[in-house]
Amino acid sequence: MLDIASLTELLAQPKKIVITTHHKPDGDAMGSSLGLYNYLIQQGHHVKVITPTDYPEYFSWLPGNGEVIIYTENLKEAATLIADAKIIFCLDFNALGRINEMGELVRKSSAVKIMIDHHLEPEDFDDYRYWDINACATAQLVYKFIAEELNHKELVNKDVATCLYTGILTDSASFCLPNTTSAVHRITADLIDAGAVNWQIYDHIYNNSSENRLRFLGLCLSQRLEVLYEYNAAIIAVTKQDLEKYKIATGETEGIVNYALSIAGTRLAAFIVERSDKVKLSLRSKGEFPANDICKKYFNGGGHRNAAGGTSTDTLEHVINQFKLILPEYKKLLIQ
Ligand code: 5GP
Ligand code: MN
Repeated sequence: MLDIASLTELLAQPKKIVITTHHKPDGDAMGSSLGLYNYLIQQGHHVKVITPTDYPEYFSWLPGNGEVIIYTENLKEAATLIADAKIIFCLDFNALGRINEMGELVRKSSAVKIMIDHHLEPEDFDDYRYWDINACATAQLVYKFIAEELNHKELVNKDVATCLYTGILTDSASFCLPNTTSAVHRITADLIDAGAVNWQIYDHIYNNSSENRLRFLGLCLSQRLEVLYEYNAAIIAVTKQDLEKYKIATGETEGIVNYALSIAGTRLAAFIVERSDKVKLSLRSKGEFPANDICKKYFNGGGHRNAAGGTSTDTLEHVINQFKLILPEYKKLLIQ
């Protein structure tokens, strides 16, 4: 493991740097990656953000987005950049499986690997780790890394601040999760002072629906929602045909699970979606209920206590049934 002094020295001269994040990047993945990007380019580094897959259109306004390389669409270029990099930042993930085929390329690269993350149980592939499971977002850690570890608060400009604010806003469910501490609010205040326009960022992300997406939400709430009062749980399950009918694109299902969790008394909500190759689950919970435990144990996934995800290769119907069969095991935690 490197220490901060060696890392500071390494970053003192311009380097070839790759920043990567987990597949199907969300607001924290893109916000923390582009926030770090906008910081590093100010020091003359040659920086590329490479995402393992595509990501939602509603992040395309983020400063620096035009420079992002999507691995699945640029295999050769991405492989060369990873092989040639002197430093690789791994943001918002801590297991190489989360970046798909890119994982092996990163593992093989001789670059110094820096993990900045807030997920449980990190894998051991990094040379420097800035990791805190109590952080509400990786973007919060990137801010602290720049401002406190590297002592460069003055380099948090409008672009950096805009990206990092986006990460904190989205991963804290708009400042609603228990880990949105006063320290987080102090950081977001700093980011607003540095130029992040909070209401505009919110508008870009949450007031940017297509008509189809809104009508799809209507379908989810009126016909795809099942409330399991006995367990204080709720499920919204949608088919491939539903997605096709409403032309639902990457990321447009994000947040729908929270409507199920908004029913009074609900402690656990699942959004279960049939994709072309697998069934994807998004779980959200309240308080101490460990949504990540279910994802890890039964659905090949993980995440945080209150927000976790997983997948299954079974049919949608089977996954819905499996989920319901799991609930008795957690009944005590759900009905307390
Ligand atoms: P989402 O429901 O938005 O896909 O994911 C919620 C949280 O769970 C995110 O923090 C994400 O990193 C994590 N997560 C989602 N899917 C998986 C998965 O398949 N494996 C693991 N380890 N974490 C996941
Ligand atoms: Mn995150």
